[in-house]
Amino acid sequence: MDHVESRIDLDYNAGAPPLQAARDALESAAGVAGNPSSAHAQGRLARQLLERARAQVAELAGVPAARVVFTSGGTEAAHAALHGLAWGHREAGRRRVVISGLEHPCMRAAALGLGREGFEIEVVPPGADGVIDAGRFLESCLDGCAAAALMAAQNEIGTLQPVAEVADGLADRGVPLVVDAVQAVDRTEREVWGPLHAATTLSAHKLGGFAGSGAVILPEKARMIPLIAGGEQERGWRGGTPAVLLAAAFGAAAVIAARRPVTAWDGIETLRDRFESHLAARLDGVVVLGKRARRLPNTSAFRVRGLRGEDLAAALDLDGIAVSTGSACSTGAARPSATLLAMGLSAGEAREMVRVSLGPATPEEAIDRAVAALVAAASRLRRHLAPARAGR
Ligand code: PLP
Repeated sequence: MDHVESRIDLDYNAGAPPLQAARDALESAAGVAGNPSSAHAQGRLARQLLERARAQVAELAGVPAARVVFTSGGTEAAHAALHGLAWGHREAGRRRVVISGLEHPCMRAAALGLGREGFEIEVVPPGADGVIDAGRFLESCLDGCAAAALMAAQNEIGTLQPVAEVADGLADRGVPLVVDAVQAVDRTEREVWGPLHAATTLSAHKLGGFAGSGAVILPEKARMIPLIAGGEQERGWRGGTPAVLLAAAFGAAAVIAARRPVTAWDGIETLRDRFESHLAARLDGVVVLGKRARRLPNTSAFRVRGLRGEDLAAALDLDGIAVSTGSACSTGAARPSATLLAMGLSAGEAREMVRVSLGPATPEEAIDRAVAALVAAASRLRRHLAPARAGR
């Protein structure tokens, strides 16, 4: 078994390590056996825990607690928000759903599902810098738009999107917007991710809670249908007994995120920038993606010309360093990332991508080790590739 303690985690965007406060909250909630819908004392205790967590998440989002609906994570939240709003607005003439070409696969899949249900789907491509043009996005939403989705921060390359401008423009037109704020919360100011008038989706494990837990922040004036109907839990917005333990942990992590000044990430940004400059100085052919755009402070996506990201990531893994690539693995075959293709990269270039993402606990030494490991892996791979290419 791997010795996880000695490993270096540079894959924070995939999931932040659970915070101690979240572990403590989970453990103390585990002692409460009640169902929050029950009227008896145990049920009331569970309800109290759930409502405290709701208030904590609401405070992070700057909204009244009644707007927070707990879900099983960011993926369910995306489906609930996009489907809920599109169907809630499917009146005469409103049959289009517009999403950005940068969306996480969960939002793309939600849109595809709506396509199968008879909606017309438009995907607005980003520029080569990985940023959506607000004017172009708004223009796409002019006619018959039932719902739109624009993420706040792109999970692979970290670029920030013009969410506030788009939310305001759409509000004027009465088009509901879903903002996937999963990667932006905690790492950027609230102005970057909302929740404004929009529906906003959150995931607990990106900010130190546990996977399998998230929320939809309902839009200010919700004309939305629930995706999961069932009992009257979550005031009818989401059927099913709520996961009180996970919500309690999410709430505890939200308190820490709400209290942490966004300037706490400045040091992380400095480390990220140092990583990029040291890597480019020591290795030929490094291209940082979205470098000139506004980005998350913790994320660096780059490619090393001629080398596959998965080979570099595998070499780093052997050195005890976790990073990720731009490929989504399905049934063992690496597919190039749809985001990178939308930015105009070729499939070959997209396969070269490596993502390094840092967290508040990332030590400086991790950056130096990662640079050294990448330089060593790249020269090994290049030595190995050179004779193979010469022999062709
Ligand atoms: N949206 C973004 C931008 C993400 O990065 C992720 C997870 O990586 C999700 C949504 C999905 O969240 P969850 O894992 O909680 O379903």
